[in-house]
Amino acid sequence: MKPAAFEYIVADSVEMAVASLAQAGDAKIIAGGQSLVPMLNFRLLRPSVLVDINRIPDLAYVREDGGVIRIGALTRHHRLETSPVIARHFPVLTEAMAHVAHLAIRNRGTIGGSLSHADPAAELPMMALLLDAELRIVSSAATRTVAARDFFRDALSVDLAEDEIVTEIVLPKLPPNTGWGFEEVARRSGDFALAAVAVTLALSDGRIAQARIAMTGVAPTARRVAEAERLLIGQRLDDGVGSDVIEAVRAAAEPPTDLHASSDYRRHLVGVLAARALAAAWSRA
Ligand SMILES: Cc1cc2nc3c(=O)[nH]c(=O)nc-3n(C[C@H](O)[C@H](O)[C@H](O)COP(=O)(O)OP(=O)(O)OC[C@H]3O[C@@H](n4cnc5c(N)ncnc54)[C@H](O)[C@@H]3O)c2cc1C
Repeated sequence: MKPAAFEYIVADSVEMAVASLAQAGDAKIIAGGQSLVPMLNFRLLRPSVLVDINRIPDLAYVREDGGVIRIGALTRHHRLETSPVIARHFPVLTEAMAHVAHLAIRNRGTIGGSLSHADPAAELPMMALLLDAELRIVSSAATRTVAARDFFRDALSVDLAEDEIVTEIVLPKLPPNTGWGFEEVARRSGDFALAAVAVTLALSDGRIAQARIAMTGVAPTARRVAEAERLLIGQRLDDGVGSDVIEAVRAAAEPPTDLHASSDYRRHLVGVLAARALAAAWSRA
């Protein structure tokens, strides 16, 4: 199918983009177009105006800035995957990016688009939660900052008004002695995850001082697993990951049954992936 007719505006500044959004009322931003265009073609969305943000200068960058890394919303997936700054500070994110779709899609898709779209099985919302990201959001009236944990509301639903645009994602650097793990199962390379788990473990005096576990594909939104994180504090994982931790991960999942896998299979899988990711993070830390 072809999309319904729309007016097309090429914004050359964030100010112009948000003014166009505010004026139209039912406009949509187009970034990489990799999720939006299929939805337009299926007429799941019929905006009267598309605001193209691809020509806005200085909206695509990865910058080190003291204790944080700043990422422009228009930064393509492939740039994140190949960024030396990301590889140095967040190797877990470098690893995750290789699992996002196919290279052709990674060449177009953007971090701002992926987070705003919030597919329940996408990797970037999980990584934003894992890495305690903050999103900078601009409208014609105000600028605000939202923590990733407050941004994702439901499947394909985020804390973003019609006239707002995500401009920047800020990732605080990880503590020293942090190990990481990332595990995903998809039916074919490049498919959305049936389940994926990402982990960081920061050690102090040889024991876990900070644990973060995030998962995707097993609930309406990506999730952190606070109970499992709490259970890990003070532990060593030389003898493997405790069954209480794995059960806490499975209990936090609400996996769907669909064409690709049953709910029970996904719940089992997310526990297996969590055990593997935790073991990898422990050995790296
Ligand atoms: C075949 C296929 C396989 C895929 N597999 C995966 C996968 O395995 N894992 C995965 O994570 N993703 C996957 N994707 C999705 C891909 O990562 C998309 O690029 C991404 O979800 C959306 O990014 P985009 O820049 O293309 O956004 P667009 O499609 O341009 O926009 C998506 C939505 O976000 C809004 N938006 C875009 N930018 C902003 C902004 N800065 N501020 C506010 N709103 C904004 C748009 O209005 C729209 O509602 C796949 C896509 C395809 C086509």
